[in-house]
Amino acid sequence: MARHYCSTCRYPLNACLCAYIQPIYPQTQLWILQHPSEVEHKKNSVRVLSLVIPNTRVYVGETQDDFAVLRNELARCDKPIYLVYPSQQSVSVETQALPADCVLLLIDGTWRKAFKILQLNPWLTQYPTVHLAEGYESRYRIRKSSRSDSLSTLEASAYMLRALDAELDIQPLIEVFDVMVDLRIKAMPPAVQSRYRKST
Ligand SMILES: [Zn+2]
Repeated sequence: MARHYCSTCRYPLNACLCAYIQPIYPQTQLWILQHPSEVEHKKNSVRVLSLVIPNTRVYVGETQDDFAVLRNELARCDKPIYLVYPSQQSVSVETQALPADCVLLLIDGTWRKAFKILQLNPWLTQYPTVHLAEGYESRYRIRKSSRSDSLSTLEASAYMLRALDAELDIQPLIEVFDVMVDLRIKAMPPAVQSRYRKST
């Protein structure tokens, strides 16, 4: 069945987000390694993120060769670069005074796919790793995750940006994200919708 998509936000017309987009311009740059399986995902939160933060860069791929352009750009970049990935060595952005004028590398994909990207791209480990402290609850009610504490890439980005720059208003990100989730749920058949009702 043919579906019609908005030519601007590229979401289905019945879930067009254009009216809700208020761009913000953080000092921090978000460079996202996106697993190919996320690109056409209807719940792709990175697309919304790129609409609200227009200078977000998205690099689709999985292997080192796929990320050749990204690696070139990183090599030329004169800002501090951090990889957002929780690990034994990673530090929490809330407790470290990191400069807001930096590049955050984020991996967009399920935990398993993000892990695979990391395995296939050992060059990523040259960058210091950072994570969010625990205690953030995902507003995502659409996607089931293997970890209850996992955030969408948009949410993780929003909280990271705020941790790096307390002055930054991240509400435009959170609001459009909530709208996206609501519209997606409304587009589901009623029997499916009931599974996603807010528990609050
Ligand atoms: Zn639209």
